[in-house]
Amino acid sequence: MTKFENMPVKLTPFSKIKKKMEAIVEEFRSADNEQKALNVVKKFHRFTDEIETEMTLVSIHYSLNTNDEKIVKANEIIDETSPLINNLINNFYKLLLESKYVNFLREKLGNFYFFMIENSLRIYDEKIIDELVKENKLTSEYDKVMSSAQIEFRGEIYNLSQMGKFISDINRKTRKEASIAVDKWLGDNEKKIGDIYDELVHVRDNMAKKLGFKNFVELGYLRLYRSDYNSEMVSSYRKQISETVVNICQKLYKKQAKRLKLNFNKMAAYDFNIAFLDGNPKPAGDSQYLLECAKKMYENMSPETGEFFNFMLDNHLMDLIARQYKAPGGYMTFINKYKSPFIFANFNGTEADVNVLTHEVGHAFQGYLSRNISIPSYRMPTLEACEIHSMSMEFFAWPYMDLFFKDDAKKYCVSHLEDAIKFLPYGITIDEFQHWVYENPNVSHEERCKKFKEIESKYTPHKRYIDCPCYSHGGYWMRQTHVFSSPFYYIDYTLAQVIAMSFLVMMYKNKDKAFKKYIKLCKCGGKYPFLTLLEKNHLVNPFVDGNVKKIVLKAYKILKEKEL
Ligand SMILES: [Zn+2]
Repeated sequence: MTKFENMPVKLTPFSKIKKKMEAIVEEFRSADNEQKALNVVKKFHRFTDEIETEMTLVSIHYSLNTNDEKIVKANEIIDETSPLINNLINNFYKLLLESKYVNFLREKLGNFYFFMIENSLRIYDEKIIDELVKENKLTSEYDKVMSSAQIEFRGEIYNLSQMGKFISDINRKTRKEASIAVDKWLGDNEKKIGDIYDELVHVRDNMAKKLGFKNFVELGYLRLYRSDYNSEMVSSYRKQISETVVNICQKLYKKQAKRLKLNFNKMAAYDFNIAFLDGNPKPAGDSQYLLECAKKMYENMSPETGEFFNFMLDNHLMDLIARQYKAPGGYMTFINKYKSPFIFANFNGTEADVNVLTHEVGHAFQGYLSRNISIPSYRMPTLEACEIHSMSMEFFAWPYMDLFFKDDAKKYCVSHLEDAIKFLPYGITIDEFQHWVYENPNVSHEERCKKFKEIESKYTPHKRYIDCPCYSHGGYWMRQTHVFSSPFYYIDYTLAQVIAMSFLVMMYKNKDKAFKKYIKLCKCGGKYPFLTLLEKNHLVNPFVDGNVKKIVLKAYKILKEKEL
């Protein structure tokens, strides 16, 4: 076991990586029997684990301090070399496919392994290396703009994460002024952010065309290794949400207005940031307290979660508090060589901190349960499946919310489930917008904003951005990191949310059975594509017409029973 601070931050120079890869290629070529060939593949996996570990550690340290010159430099080197490394990896994959031992290897490594190899060859090619480097640089640039945000509010300077607390303040004047301050910052930086996105869209469109795709949509799906559903299926899935969930959400927003004693038709978007008249549920203590609660919870939840969470604590694998120069947001990543998950967050004293301790920990728990899978690509499934691990864990944490929130526990569960349902229309807004963007790559920034506003008013008609000109003209998407750094990775959260809600419904019937099912799912790691994974674990398929409605109505029923 290695503590995080003892994991060395270093980058093997590209020339050395290239040499080593060439040696592995040579060894594979000269393998004179199938077992020897398989051993070289295993060696190749150990080597890619090693290289990926170096890159993961740099990227973690970068997000911990985006202002550390040495790390910034290392991160720039990765932006430049990672496409080249990918190219080396792909050359090895080509050899595998052409090998005379391919049948033996297929038998030992599995068909899905070979599917992923073929997919990887379709999405990368030497001829798009320049575009890939450019894409990396542009997304880093966006991260930098967002993380270096210095927002002046009532005489102090805050970053975007830190402003979260004021935006959901119980005092209407505070949340109004805070929203105006954030909107102003976004407006002041709109040109910069809009230009970065415009370049990103063109770079992505170019690489798609160079690879022989009509536009970036299909390539975007393949880059997420989606193998068993396509954009048509996603489009009709969005329709399921727009036809049933949008209305349910409007009911929820009206109910919220009543609770807040506000006139629904006059509410500003920022008013919906608070769920209750006496404020959002407040954690019953500071971050240290929350960590202690989390420790108790996971030790009590199951032997597996207890062992895992203590592993995270003992090895300092979580950095949770918001600080200046920390990148915004939260994530879980896996450090291959040390078989260790790592959790990054920006605690800001709101109930969102508890969400991190349940959501990101859900991801990390899956990583931990799959840590001994030796084939790297089988450790973690595609992203929509990963979000099931995290979002379901949020619900499995419900019985422990008394610890975290004391008297506010019920309020937390109500607003958490309300938010889960309300999230679906927002999720499809971001997804539909991105499809439109990449199908129409040559439009202007203004047209993009106009389109966003149009989609937004269709799915979230209650949002009125009073006194916030940048949001009002359709600029909200500029705050959604995924739109920049992970195109088409957003619908994943909605797909997973529907399945997580089905876990909640199961949990209400039989907690132990539901949790066993969850552990089984986590242990599957990334051995199957999304729909097969659902089938193997007898989980609901959100693409089947009617399933979204069925699950959301059951969740809605649970919500009504909890009524506040
Ligand atoms: Zn997640």
